[in-house]
Amino acid sequence: MALIVQKFGGTSVGDIERIKNVACKVKKERDAGNRVAVVVSAMAGVTNQLVGYVEALSPLNSDEAWREYDQVVSSGEQVTSGLLALALHEMGVPSRSFAGGQIPLKTNHVHGKARIAGIDATEIKKALDGGMAAVVAGFQGTTPDGRIATLGRGGSDTSAVALAAALKADRCDIYTDVDGVYTTDPRLVEGARKLDKITCEEMLELASLGAKVLQTRSVEMAMNHGVVVQVRSSFADTPGTYLVNEEDIVEQKKITGIAYSRDEARVTLTGVPDKPGVAAAIFGPLADANINVDMIVQNVDEIGRVTDMTFTVNKTDLERAVAALQKARPVLQYKEMNADKNVAKISVVGVGMRSHAGVALDMFKTLAEKNINILVISTSEIKISVLIAEEYTELAVRALHAAFELEKA
Ligand code: ADP
Ligand code: ASP
Ligand code: MG
Repeated sequence: MALIVQKFGGTSVGDIERIKNVACKVKKERDAGNRVAVVVSAMAGVTNQLVGYVEALSPLNSDEAWREYDQVVSSGEQVTSGLLALALHEMGVPSRSFAGGQIPLKTNHVHGKARIAGIDATEIKKALDGGMAAVVAGFQGTTPDGRIATLGRGGSDTSAVALAAALKADRCDIYTDVDGVYTTDPRLVEGARKLDKITCEEMLELASLGAKVLQTRSVEMAMNHGVVVQVRSSFADTPGTYLVNEEDIVEQKKITGIAYSRDEARVTLTGVPDKPGVAAAIFGPLADANINVDMIVQNVDEIGRVTDMTFTVNKTDLERAVAALQKARPVLQYKEMNADKNVAKISVVGVGMRSHAGVALDMFKTLAEKNINILVISTSEIKISVLIAEEYTELAVRALHAAFELEKA
């Protein structure tokens, strides 16, 4: 008898018929002799609608506003947890719902993107031991002072993996609207291929570089706690994709997958006097404003007197970044600042890069052949990212997918 955590995303619980379909999946797993804890997202579109209500009322510029944001946006998951428990009752499956605070799942104080501080699984274990299916509202927990906090968009994945770790579950199945992790977003590239396995390290990169099939923190959590994770379809009964260790993959291709993100914006400061400490002087005010900088490139003029600094920040932070740098202008003495929101980051990812040379060259040549200009480059051991004009996102991803022959097994 195994203990399995099943997580169902927004599309999978998008209407009453689909919730009944989910109940059938839970029942099937129990009928096979397993104990089951379920984590659910809000119905598709509901979280966006709730965020819209909040934003229509508040600029979200205070801690108290973010506490109320969480109070509102967490409600979608409470609805689906109750509905699924009801659907299970109707099918003769004993079950009960748990809101985050009823588990309790404890978080830190960072409203809107809280981190999980701990899960006391006693009550859920009691329910499972009593023969019940436990249905948990994902995406939410409570802060030390008892307020509701949400875990960042896509956070139900993290709730599920964290619960699997706390229950020492045999497996965590993430049910979604595609049947696994693909070489790239199958909604963008028709020839994208489903992977049977992907290393945790690659999945972590792909998720953090924009592939929203799993929330980045859920992958981190799976790695840290050794949780077995499978991504699979809610609508087809096919095997999904397993997250595995590197030694479980026999043959490494140059590249495993491609991710894209439209969430970043570019900032360029021109004519900054080039002297030691200039980078620290630029990035200090941004760090003080809690703004993360991602890609960075610096060009020094021929004589080495002035430098241009280009970098990216999250689109949602752009206005604050510009304000912080304007304020620091008397110190930085840059000539001009310009910013652009119409950019996209395209990344190729693969542990095979460690043993195959020339990946960067292949990537740059492919983009050059399509006349796509590269604005910024950044690399790590298993990924190369480029910043390009947003309008070329699809063209770039498709061209790279073909160039690295990712449609072939
Ligand atoms: P859920 O609501 O089930 O959590 P999400 O919308 O968060 O589902 O994530 C699933 C979506 O992730 C897919 O519909 C797909 O468009 C997108 N996606 C992006 N990159 C990939 C990838 N490499 N493999 C599979 N899906 C991907
Ligand atoms: N409902 C939340 C969101 O849309 C959490 C999730 O679906 O994982 O971001
Ligand atoms: Mg998701």
